[in-house]
Amino acid sequence: MHADEARPRAELSVVVPIYNEAQNLRPLLERLSPVLESCARSFEIVFVDDGSSDESIDILRKAHDLDPRVRLVSFSRNFGKEIAIAAGLDHACGEAVVIMDADLQHPPEMIRAFVDKWREGYKNVYGQRIDRSADSAMRRALTQRFYHLFARLGETELPAGAGDFRLLDAQAVNALRTMRERARFSKGLYAWIGFSSAGVPFDVAERHAGQSKFSYRKLTHFALDGLMSFTTAPLRIWTYVGLATSALALALAFFFLLRTLILGVDVPGYASLIVSITFFAGVQLLSLGILGEYVGRIFSEVKGRPLYLVAERLGLDEHDDGARRRAPSDPATPRPYVA
Ligand code: UDP
Ligand code: MG
Repeated sequence: MHADEARPRAELSVVVPIYNEAQNLRPLLERLSPVLESCARSFEIVFVDDGSSDESIDILRKAHDLDPRVRLVSFSRNFGKEIAIAAGLDHACGEAVVIMDADLQHPPEMIRAFVDKWREGYKNVYGQRIDRSADSAMRRALTQRFYHLFARLGETELPAGAGDFRLLDAQAVNALRTMRERARFSKGLYAWIGFSSAGVPFDVAERHAGQSKFSYRKLTHFALDGLMSFTTAPLRIWTYVGLATSALALALAFFFLLRTLILGVDVPGYASLIVSITFFAGVQLLSLGILGEYVGRIFSEVKGRPLYLVAERLGLDEHDDGARRRAPSDPATPRPYVA
């Protein structure tokens, strides 16, 4: 049987990536369901379990038995939130798809405003954080630094305060499904695809239960992925550094040549020699390191492994992936090769 017969297309899909969110799932469903009942003709909630080791899956199994519109894709291990979002978009069948966190930091009631904007014709409706007081001062400061850097170096402009909490029209979802990169920086991808966009301001709530899953280590990694997948400026910098130091070296050579001709040979100079050798060794290692970061990312992309592995699906077909539901007229649809 064709999967679409078993699963009629919903008007609205909600994608929720979860990683050990057992205490948040029931409160989330309790708040989310009435909102969706009130603003969509039909809906489904696609939870993506990112390798949780707590009771999250059991809770969702029970929720699915009670209401089959609660669906689940469960990963074989933890692949990270960005990949979980990609899997959610692959499996969601709605005419519009909302992405939100499970910890109730993204107020479900905002979805009404998102849907209103979507009905006005916007295809990329994002929640705009008014302030980040829910985050620690340290995280706020570092985040701000990162966005400044991204704005200066990145080749894609990120709207201020926009995050993962958003609504995407099926057309935008199809565009995102074609992007199979592993080093995913979703915020950049949402901006990169374009489409008519609108921001809806909202207050980020405190996390309902548990702790943030993002350590500073993970955030640093994420920030590097974000920068490196949206700009090659860190590579280009070395061309300029190289040019500048070569010019300096030439000037120095000239200076020493003249000095030797005029004043004769001058042997001392040990300190300046050591300083310049270590300095330029440092510069070279740094540039090699940055090159290495890019090469490493090329390596992981080029291996072409699947983005994620699914261990279990509930209420979703095995063939429910992005490729199947792309419209035949969509240029992103891979066409069969004809000799
Ligand atoms: N999450 C995930 N995989 C991970 C880490 C987090 O799916 O490896 C989910 C998590 O369960 C939550 C959302 O991503 O629904 C946001 O995570 P969190 O609240 O920890 O991030 P923060 O709000 O601190 O940015
Ligand atoms: Mg959170």
